[in-house]
Amino acid sequence: MNSLHDAPKPHFVLIPFMAQGHTIPMIDMAHLLAKHGAMVSFITTPVNAARVQSTIDRARELNTAIRFVPLRLPCAEVGLPDGCENVDEVLEKDQVMKMTDAYAMLHEPLVLYLREQSIPPSCIVSDLCQPWTGDVARDLGIPRLMFNGFCAFASLCRYLIHQDKVFENVPDGDELVILPGFPHHLEVSKARSPGNFNSPGFEKFSAKILDEEQRADGIVTNTFYELEPLYVDAYEQRIGRRVWTIGPMFLCNTDRITIADRGAKASVNQKHCMEWLDSMQNGSVLYVSFGSMARTVFSQLEEIALGLEASKRPFLWVIKSDNKPSETDKLLLPEGFEERTRGRGLIIQGWAPQALILSHPSVGGFVTHCGWNSTVEGISSGLPMITWPHCAEQFLNEELIVNVLKVGLAVGVKSITNRTMKVHEISVVKRNQIERAVIELMGEETGAEERRTRAKELKEKARKAMHEGSSYSNVKQLIEYISSRGTRTDVQ
Ligand code: UDP
Repeated sequence: MNSLHDAPKPHFVLIPFMAQGHTIPMIDMAHLLAKHGAMVSFITTPVNAARVQSTIDRARELNTAIRFVPLRLPCAEVGLPDGCENVDEVLEKDQVMKMTDAYAMLHEPLVLYLREQSIPPSCIVSDLCQPWTGDVARDLGIPRLMFNGFCAFASLCRYLIHQDKVFENVPDGDELVILPGFPHHLEVSKARSPGNFNSPGFEKFSAKILDEEQRADGIVTNTFYELEPLYVDAYEQRIGRRVWTIGPMFLCNTDRITIADRGAKASVNQKHCMEWLDSMQNGSVLYVSFGSMARTVFSQLEEIALGLEASKRPFLWVIKSDNKPSETDKLLLPEGFEERTRGRGLIIQGWAPQALILSHPSVGGFVTHCGWNSTVEGISSGLPMITWPHCAEQFLNEELIVNVLKVGLAVGVKSITNRTMKVHEISVVKRNQIERAVIELMGEETGAEERRTRAKELKEKARKAMHEGSSYSNVKQLIEYISSRGTRTDVQ
């Protein structure tokens, strides 16, 4: 795949933010760049490296040009418990800030490490939430590209909201405001827009993110042009630099072990899970999962269980809940639920091999929290979706899925849910809402058929973009662009 022939491999240094939804797509990016002939150093930390040990081992086994580089995170120095290296370990807001401070302290060790390498770095591609990496790139005299894990629709919204201070004089978080500068009429509310760390205590960090976004040499995103051309063009125009759409990046993985182990080791016996799916009718199973971060409270688990039961449809439900003291304890579910749904329901408690499941022909629908990775995986698998946003930019993704792409229907979430909220603050979606949505999505009505047809069309477009179309040529151009900028060998 390397079009650079005899030229030395450009050396990409990838620096993710340490949350599953940010790290997983960057590992996919590492594989994608390596397949296109680049060399990749993937910066991580000991705890985060251990979580993806099988991916690291597999990359080595397959002799890919990816090197995982664990740097010690100075947790104690910023007052974090030892080993607290991933955002999913923290529940208090102030710990998130401490964690970003700890990551910023990797500046020196990273520069030292990169200066020692026989193949000097050609560029840094780092997460939006790692703004300190702009200074590292400038110290090394190399470009910094910013990885923005949002789709272009949400990226543009986020950028306009922050740049134009859209909510500055809007005290009511639920008030709908028309978003000026957006390519069409769109109403947004502060409560359901991406926070970008703009709550009290995060102001300096947020300003640094915006500043580095404007200084970046380009933006890399996990979307594809044909999915949302209007918003890619508008975001590019507004931000004034190249937006490299190179997704859906996970589609570059052809090795089944790499796909199955994305993010973490699955909590289910993979063979059992696949055999169960094999035993179900094509397109009959509803996959229910809310990503890596969300934890579902018992009152909500109960409503989901009873809604799924009433729908009478087969389901594969991934549960991440705090209602059990340890992984081995039995989950609290409504009395008799598992017996009554035996044969048509499978529950995975913990981590599921999601990309593998979504691509199984028995899966016919996806109840999603609208995290962008899950959304793009659902789209690439040709699945219509029930949208159940929780927080961050997920309400904007819901708008894209339901009203722009028209491949989903909303379960009807009105307010946000996040990990730091107390149980009584959470607004629970009721069983009849869930039952209605499932029957409508999985049914035979014209609307359901049309949604399925559009979802299948998007799947084809996604695969084409990645394997021969826009994303394919963008990756190539990106590597050529970095090669043409030259690798600095004169840095001391
Ligand atoms: N994921 C997975 N198994 C799980 C939960 C999540 O493989 O049990 C993966 C999922 O495929 C996606 C990522 O974790 O790639 C979650 O990212 P997303 O943006 O959807 O949501 P977040 O976790 O950031 O809220």
